[in-house]
Amino acid sequence: MTIGILGGGQLGYMLALAGYPLGLHFRFLDPSPEAPVGRIAQRVTAEYADQDALEKFANGLELVTYEFENVPVTAVRSLANHVPVYPPPQALEAAQDRLNEKNLFKKLGIATTSFVEVNKAPELDAAVRKTGLPAVLKTRRMGYDGKGQWVLRTQEDVAKVKNDFPAAQLLLENFVAFQRELSILAVRGRSGETVFYPLVENHHRAGILRLSIAPAPKLGSALQRAGEQAAERVMHELKYVGVLAIEFFECNGELVANEMAPRVHNSGHWSIEGSATSQFENHLRAVLGMPLGATTTLGASAMLNLIGEVPEAADVLAIPDAHLHLYGKSPRPGRKVGHVTLRAASFEMLKAQMERLPKFFLRPEFCLPVESIAANSIVVSS
Ligand code: AMP
Repeated sequence: MTIGILGGGQLGYMLALAGYPLGLHFRFLDPSPEAPVGRIAQRVTAEYADQDALEKFANGLELVTYEFENVPVTAVRSLANHVPVYPPPQALEAAQDRLNEKNLFKKLGIATTSFVEVNKAPELDAAVRKTGLPAVLKTRRMGYDGKGQWVLRTQEDVAKVKNDFPAAQLLLENFVAFQRELSILAVRGRSGETVFYPLVENHHRAGILRLSIAPAPKLGSALQRAGEQAAERVMHELKYVGVLAIEFFECNGELVANEMAPRVHNSGHWSIEGSATSQFENHLRAVLGMPLGATTTLGASAMLNLIGEVPEAADVLAIPDAHLHLYGKSPRPGRKVGHVTLRAASFEMLKAQMERLPKFFLRPEFCLPVESIAANSIVVSS
């Protein structure tokens, strides 16, 4: 049985690695001849909009899924005429455009930032009057890892952006003074069955995820329930099948939705070692219509992204229950080339694991909050 995957980056790579024990085969479509999945699976190198390539790609596939949410919706809809596509194209459509996404949150009663559509420089002042300062100007489409974002703190920042206005459809949001960033990974099968991973605490630098701690320290059942409820509403509305990630800001004990991703997500990588079933396996189970796997956590985990460079493998592997994942990508500044997951029986022991990390990880960009996670016991709702 061969599964087609649009996008051939590390998420696709890890999907394939999770699928091989289930006897699955994979074929990827990616415009880049460098896509790392070329090492482990069939790869079609073509633009997503190339109709002939799409047909060739789809030939003989059981179903198609995607690991990259900026695939053109038209290409996915045309594929859906030949082969089942999960998650459904309407999920891609909702998640590709921040305006659609925010409107969906609003419609479903999910708290989100205030937002105003901005298309031309003269519209910015009125938008700023609505959101107040500080605010964040974001491109509606194609933004990722903090790209296509401008934080406006002062009227001077507003004037500067107006002078050099980005040629794109934009959204202005109020800047949220959050206590921390959290995300939920949820899974919905073809029969409507759902499972949820615990909320995870995420730390970013320059808009890029650096560290996830799972479960989020001091996670109470009310917060977990709120995360699950938001994901449940989105998945129900979109007749969703697969893994869905929603990123939140935590503000005074409440969740404010920032954005969602209709795919496996970087903040779920810890689940490979830290959960009874990884997000990758559960995504495959969901799209294949198989029973979903348990999301029980195996202690506490910390996932550290390797961005632009990698440490000495032996220094990481010397730590008991440390797991190194390298994606086979050539290192370039800002590029996610791998990750490390530390797993431990408790937060206390996770802290001890972090303290054993080589010097490489002591730089501030790794965001290791060794003090803040100490002494927190794991409190997760069932
Ligand atoms: P995004 O691409 O929307 O996930 O933004 C990347 C990161 O920028 C987030 O994870 C936050 O750290 C920060 N950020 C984005 N939007 C806001 C906001 N409205 N208020 C505060 N921080 C934000």
